[in-house]
Amino acid sequence: MFNEIYPHKLNIEYKDVRPNEEDILLLYKGGSAFVKLADNKVEVPTVKDLGMDKEKTGFLFEIDSKRFFRLATETDKEFVSTEQKKLAEVGYGYVNLDNLRKTEPRHISFAIHLGLSLDRWYRKSVFCGKCGSRTVHSHKERAMVCPNCHNVIYPTISPSVIVLIRDGEEILVTRYQEAHNSYRGYALVAGYVESGETPEETVRREVMEEVGLKVKNISYVTSQPWPQSGSLLLGFVCDIDGDRDVKVEEDELELAEWINRKDLPDRSKDASLTSHLIEMFRQAKL
Ligand SMILES: [Zn+2]
Repeated sequence: MFNEIYPHKLNIEYKDVRPNEEDILLLYKGGSAFVKLADNKVEVPTVKDLGMDKEKTGFLFEIDSKRFFRLATETDKEFVSTEQKKLAEVGYGYVNLDNLRKTEPRHISFAIHLGLSLDRWYRKSVFCGKCGSRTVHSHKERAMVCPNCHNVIYPTISPSVIVLIRDGEEILVTRYQEAHNSYRGYALVAGYVESGETPEETVRREVMEEVGLKVKNISYVTSQPWPQSGSLLLGFVCDIDGDRDVKVEEDELELAEWINRKDLPDRSKDASLTSHLIEMFRQAKL
């Protein structure tokens, strides 16, 4: 999975520091990052490469001893510095993150995704949601603080479940309606945990809503942070309980069908938790 960056190690702990010239500086525009992508290899610029004023940067995280920062100012300019323009001349440009999920080195690809989720949160947290005052960064933790009413805003993470439903040698796969989700491959039943629910209750509710089935033997398998949507995906496996005739929720799904273990495509190269669960079943590990 794309968050698995071993032997590299993420340290997400916030530090109240300014960058050195050699630290990484991530620039985002919409869902794109300013990087160089060639032959499936991605390169990210340093503070020195971009010639940025260090006061305009914000600390993100560390991977091993490498520190990552973001450009903390809003800008609509095409180039934030003459140095950025020079980088554009040697192949740097804004690349959509959908094209950076399987690029090498993997820990850099993951860092770009994680950086975007934090960058989006910082941009949404410039003003206090209670009184409208401009917020400031806490000096001790990753939080924005309102100097007027003392409201504290932490990054939001939304838990959701992904469910592998088994019936003997078969699993239930789905495909989203195109208007709902552009991903055209097989998916699994999935949905956000609602207030007051345990993830296991979400599994029962989402399976009933999306495909009209009852399930049993619900057990947790593994998780995956999905920074692009600010989600924490929780992977579950369960067995069908009784009737296996599916009733598809047509607003969301184009199809839901049972597929035999031996007919599943090899998805071992995919980066997602959905592929990981399907692949575990295909290899008879679930
Ligand atoms: Zn306030």
